[in-house]
Amino acid sequence: MKEVCETMTKVTEKNILNILGKEVLPGTSTTINFNIAKLYTSTKVEIPVIIERSKVPGPIILITAGIHGDEINGVEVVRQIIAKKINKPAKGSIICIPVLNVFGFLSMNRFFPDGRDLNRVFPGTKNGSLASRFAYQFINEILPVADFCLDFHTGGASRFNAPHIRVDPKNERLITLAKIFNAPFTLLSKNLDGSYRATCAKKGKDILLFEGGKSQNSSKDIAIKGVQGTMRILHHLEMLNDSFQLPLSNSKSLIIKKSFWVRAKYSGLLHIKIPIGKHVEKDEILATITDPYGKMRHVVKASNEGYVINVNESPIVYKGDAIFRVTKELVNG
Ligand SMILES: [Zn+2]
Repeated sequence: MKEVCETMTKVTEKNILNILGKEVLPGTSTTINFNIAKLYTSTKVEIPVIIERSKVPGPIILITAGIHGDEINGVEVVRQIIAKKINKPAKGSIICIPVLNVFGFLSMNRFFPDGRDLNRVFPGTKNGSLASRFAYQFINEILPVADFCLDFHTGGASRFNAPHIRVDPKNERLITLAKIFNAPFTLLSKNLDGSYRATCAKKGKDILLFEGGKSQNSSKDIAIKGVQGTMRILHHLEMLNDSFQLPLSNSKSLIIKKSFWVRAKYSGLLHIKIPIGKHVEKDEILATITDPYGKMRHVVKASNEGYVINVNESPIVYKGDAIFRVTKELVNG
């Protein structure tokens, strides 16, 4: 973490933060509207960038959600961080952007209006599609000021994720930070091409990606894990305000090296029998798949022991659909 505390980008000698063409003074609260494009109706689309600065110099943390417009639970995590004033740092600065893909958020859609997944077009291009242009602006006008990033997501397409942090298996520093965040699980997974995470890695920015819950859904239990993890990171960086107590946890994040998907062997109605996050034994019953006519009932069993970190909550499945993600190899525990 030494690096995080020592890197102070885009802050002048007088501790003035330059972002989006504005100067933000130490000890101030500012919201800058990041203009991205207009709707068909000429209505401006602006993304509020909420900045809180301590008078005491320190790291700049960038907290984002809603890269996928339908991942509401991530937005809720950042909303709580702001509403509870956790984003007022004891030192340094905290920049919160609760909704990055405003277009998708308006219509509860993962994608940008151009049909692109924003999280596959980073670092973007100046003259590309709408999503690509947005990614370019974000990477060039906001990301450079950040020393450390937190990005909040949920599972997509009815798939409910147990709360976990995703980090590159080769990045020991990020694994250490994930342990400090202490989500119930930490998934070691490679960076995907075109993702925000991959661009951060290329630019030498530390990032923790949080996954929890599912799209178009809100879960209090998941949101609190995201908020508490953020508080632990801020405490580690000596940025958490004295008025907050550090959230304690009885357990350490289980670090997942390998996991596998349990797929449906039949098409039909899906009935889940276990809660998310459960440790299951080999051959334990996970679900049943039935036909609508009361003739077929297939039992889905665990082929290995492990923790169930993703559950497909769709009421119907096709043969071959992924139903559960189960851990196969843990680094600890
Ligand atoms: Zn996402």
